[in-house]
Amino acid sequence: MNDDIHTSKQAMKTALRLGHDLSFEDLYCRDGVVRIDRLFLDHVAAVDQDLGSRLTTARKNPDALEARDESDLLLGLAPHVDDFIGTLFGITGDIQSRAVEHHALAPVFACRRLFVQRVALKKIKPLDAAALDGDTLTTTMTALLDGAVSDVAFANAVLTWMEDEEVHADALETAAQYAAWQVHMNVHAHPGSVLFREPARVDPYDLVPNLIDLAAHGVDMKTMDPAHLRHRPGFKLTDEGGDLAGCLSEANYCIFCHNQGKDSCSRGLRDKKTNAFRQTAFGVDMAGCPLEEKISEMHLTKTDGNFVGALAMAVVDNPMVAGTGHRICNDCMKSCIYQKQEPVNIPMGETRTLRDVLELPWGFEIYSLLTRWNPLNIRRPVPLAESGYKVLVVGLGPAGFTLSHHLMNDGHAVVAIDGAKIEPLDPRYSGVTPKGERVPFDPVRDINELMEDLDNRVMAGFGGVAEYGITVRWDKNYLKIIRLLLERRQAFALFGGTRYGGALAEDSAYAMGFDHVALCAGAGKPTVLS
Ligand code: SF4
Repeated sequence: MNDDIHTSKQAMKTALRLGHDLSFEDLYCRDGVVRIDRLFLDHVAAVDQDLGSRLTTARKNPDALEARDESDLLLGLAPHVDDFIGTLFGITGDIQSRAVEHHALAPVFACRRLFVQRVALKKIKPLDAAALDGDTLTTTMTALLDGAVSDVAFANAVLTWMEDEEVHADALETAAQYAAWQVHMNVHAHPGSVLFREPARVDPYDLVPNLIDLAAHGVDMKTMDPAHLRHRPGFKLTDEGGDLAGCLSEANYCIFCHNQGKDSCSRGLRDKKTNAFRQTAFGVDMAGCPLEEKISEMHLTKTDGNFVGALAMAVVDNPMVAGTGHRICNDCMKSCIYQKQEPVNIPMGETRTLRDVLELPWGFEIYSLLTRWNPLNIRRPVPLAESGYKVLVVGLGPAGFTLSHHLMNDGHAVVAIDGAKIEPLDPRYSGVTPKGERVPFDPVRDINELMEDLDNRVMAGFGGVAEYGITVRWDKNYLKIIRLLLERRQAFALFGGTRYGGALAEDSAYAMGFDHVALCAGAGKPTVLS
């Protein structure tokens, strides 16, 4: 090995100094995560004895807990996840800074609810807004704010003025007119603004925006307005997803239906009389998130600024969250309680929640750890002890990689095969050489170390149709992240270019010592066992 590379590897490794005398290797072995779990229990018991004993009791008999009580328990624990992770990874300051960024946006959502929606838009209707002089309003508003109008500046000023409405009557009137003009006239003067927006009505028969009429060859047609066309010259993303403000905007739009046991995004939207799932205008059941992710609780935790806890909340039911979210799945959105207006954009918020953690120092290691140790998972906070069972997983698409994860956390060893060629990853990240030998791997400090240019990345072949079938709308670097979550584990091995029914079949698999074969081949062949 080149000396420079060796030196830099050592420097990176020593840069991770875990708290509680833990080593990096502890994060990736069962004894280590069991120790981490005990430390967390001690931490909670020390700062909130009642919460600690509720957690211990809940773990003994999780199914005895009512859904609402479980939510309350997890919501109470979430802030401790942020604190504990901060201490464990030595990044308390980074977590606090990011939390401050969350809190700094809180006035925007309070102002949107209390002033823009309840005052300005109620008082000034679209016709009146059309008659307003936007240029004059902008000049007056800029003078009132003593600087350019931004979401945060406007919200902070208006909330202050609202504390004494009589004294600030003129300023509030100008602010109401400015807000109504922005929203009703769709001005978009502030790119990315989450303050001057109102959820649009949804017409299921008119879901494609920006269509224009076109008459050609004697036929009346609809076509996309050329101004809204996005070109796809390569593999780069055409949609980068939401930023923190966008994510918090959606989380604050959510009304936290778990409080009433009506979080239909997670459990499905049911008919009040028959209790059957309601259907969309196109006859599809609104069954909610197939994983029953704790979406409402994730949103509430995120709005509180406990963003590591928010990710842990999602990871309880959706550990492979890097493979879901923005532009990937939207069953949750379709079942959102908002049926007549835009639903909460849950997938965008979920992906942003993951990114907010990944972008922390050691963010990948934090997410990775949460897939093996999750204190919010009262049923399986740490992987079970080795069972001795060996499972052959056929196919490494979303079903295969998710099942592989759960099997390992249930204590089983997994060998996964995929018909596609799987390119080796850098052993310094994966811990596996191209020959399949296990070697020590390095902690990832900066998530950008793993990110590759989408136009130039080599297809890693992992993720089945996710690798080949989805382009430009999903960052495939997330596939590498998922692969590392699995490949770094001692109980996992994967082999590409291996077709079930060819090099390996039912008889030979059992003869090789597998106890079970799990077919996750999706659209690939074969899908039937005789
Ligand atoms: S996302 Fe929609 S259904 Fe789910 S909790 Fe929020 S408002 Fe309710």
